[in-house]
Amino acid sequence: MKPPKFEYHAPKSVEEALDALGRYGGDAKVLAGGQSLMPLLNFRLARPAALVDLNRIASLAYIREHDGQIRFGAMTRQRTIEFSPVVAQRLPLLKEATRWVGHLPIRTRGTIGGSIAHADPSAEYPAVLAALEGEVVARGAKGERVIRAGDLFQTYLTTNLAPDEILTEVRLPAMPAGAGYALEEFARRHGDFAIIGIAAMVVRDGQRCKLARLATAGAGPVPVRLRAAEEILERDGLGDAAIEAAARRATELVDPDADIHASADYRRHLTGVLTKRALVRAIGVARG
Ligand SMILES: Cc1cc2nc3c(=O)[nH]c(=O)nc-3n(C[C@H](O)[C@H](O)[C@H](O)COP(=O)(O)OP(=O)(O)OC[C@H]3O[C@@H](n4cnc5c(N)ncnc54)[C@H](O)[C@@H]3O)c2cc1C
Repeated sequence: MKPPKFEYHAPKSVEEALDALGRYGGDAKVLAGGQSLMPLLNFRLARPAALVDLNRIASLAYIREHDGQIRFGAMTRQRTIEFSPVVAQRLPLLKEATRWVGHLPIRTRGTIGGSIAHADPSAEYPAVLAALEGEVVARGAKGERVIRAGDLFQTYLTTNLAPDEILTEVRLPAMPAGAGYALEEFARRHGDFAIIGIAAMVVRDGQRCKLARLATAGAGPVPVRLRAAEEILERDGLGDAAIEAAARRATELVDPDADIHASADYRRHLTGVLTKRALVRAIGVARG
């Protein structure tokens, strides 16, 4: 199918883009990598009056370290992130997650801002944003605001970004030195969206766990932070019994939906299995 008719704007600055968006009273869409939006248009699941293409705004593509955070311009391609030395060193969990995002041509066009603004519950970047307690910067006619991961995702494919706002930056705190990490995922084929994915980070102090982070992809309408499972590890350490207990708790913390890919029970079961796998691997990384 071909997309329905739309007007097309290719601004060269964020100000021009906001100007163009503002003219359509919520009936325009931002175009980033187009890897999710173009299929939606072609299937006529979205019919915006206009597209505001961000691809000519060079100032929206960067990776910078600032104040303990790694900051990504929204138009930074997933492929750039995959090969960034800064990401490899400071955010190895994000690097690992990137390899699970679609296929090479998709990562070559797809952007970090698009992936997060699209808010597919099975996508990897939103899970990493939740696990690492990142935040995003949004700009609109009324100015700029910072939105924490926990407040951003509302439900399926829905964030609290207003239709006339542009997500301009994604901020992730650099992972502590020596942190262990893993992204475990089950999908029917490599490159498919996750049936379940688990992003994990642990910071150890001998057998003790100073900090644990766990978040899901695919286990509900938004990424789920598995805080009660993290607390078990922070209280009881990183031994086998604590890992088993955290994995069991994880299955109780999610309320997944059934769809054509998997039943809710199967997704809940996978949440436990993959939490355990992610923790075992993350702890192994932390032990060097
Ligand atoms: C075959 C296939 C397999 C895929 N597999 C995976 C996968 O396994 N994991 C995964 O995570 N993704 C997967 N994707 C999706 C891919 O990662 C997309 O790149 C991503 O979802 C959207 O990023 P984009 O830059 O292409 O955004 P676009 O498609 O351009 O936009 C997506 C949505 O976000 C909005 N948007 C984009 N940028 C901004 C912004 N800066 N501010 C405000 N709103 C914005 C758009 O208006 C649109 O509604 C797959 C895609 C395909 C086609």
